[in-house]
Amino acid sequence: MYYNDQTIIFWNGKFVRAAEARIDLYSQTLHYGLGVFEGIRSYRHADGQTRIFKAVEHFERLRFSAESMNLPYAWTTAELAAATYEVLEQNNLQDAYIRPLVYAPANMKFDLNTESNIVIEAWPMQPFLGEKLLRVMTSSFQRPNPKGFKIAAKATGHYVNSILASQEAKARGFDEALLLDINDHVAEGPGANLFYEKDGKLFTPPPGNILPGITRNTVFEICDELEILLEEKLFTIDELKQADAVFFCGTAAEVIGWTSLDDTVFPMPWEKTLSKQVQDAYKRCTVGLQVKEYAEEAD
Ligand code: PMP
Repeated sequence: MYYNDQTIIFWNGKFVRAAEARIDLYSQTLHYGLGVFEGIRSYRHADGQTRIFKAVEHFERLRFSAESMNLPYAWTTAELAAATYEVLEQNNLQDAYIRPLVYAPANMKFDLNTESNIVIEAWPMQPFLGEKLLRVMTSSFQRPNPKGFKIAAKATGHYVNSILASQEAKARGFDEALLLDINDHVAEGPGANLFYEKDGKLFTPPPGNILPGITRNTVFEICDELEILLEEKLFTIDELKQADAVFFCGTAAEVIGWTSLDDTVFPMPWEKTLSKQVQDAYKRCTVGLQVKEYAEEAD
């Protein structure tokens, strides 16, 4: 249940009950999928305070996505971050998932809009529920052609592709899908980036056919601090199947290892991988602890 009669959302500058807000059924976003959104999380820190993880990065990406999609964007990052803290407080949320959405007004044409609407919703989410490793399937769906879409924007319509891939994988008994790009290089999951580990080094696809995730950036920062070698490169499914370990990363998924891809089981015990060190460090970052402290403790 995402909301109940008491739930408060931020809606076009006001704090209102979710149950009382309305969407225009003639919205261009509803009909054609031209909207932009974010997926953000807040975590309860050791001091008992609630903090939004990478709030600036997420609201800056929301602006970038809106501008990429020609949606008017009239808000500052500071005001949206403040509004989000207010939503969390009014709903008594600490560990939460936060969903801002910028959507178009009534417009059945393909023309530019003169204004946009914004909503910020939040609901409870426990951190690191997904401790188990994933069984992943190579999808029959490709990621969208970057010449047909602005693939680095987090646009609502792009998620038709994600949903088709994820539903296909789950219908076949897998936990999640892996999508290739239009040239058959590995791209990403329906809602997460991926890294693989081979001989003590991590690899991940470069921007171009992926949503360059904020968690992916955090993994770069963690690897830098833990002195784990990391390289961006294009690679195929065959190369990925030779990996010692693989993980998905994203705001919702956090860092989650794979047990297998199709019929291939990854050989290295997760506990022994560098990827697990990255997972632990990420967990620490989200609750305000230092990556480096983890490195020292691990010695
Ligand atoms: N790729 C896709 C397609 C996604 O939907 C997401 C989730 N936003 C990601 C990657 C990971 O992005 P982030 O780390 O910013 O959540």
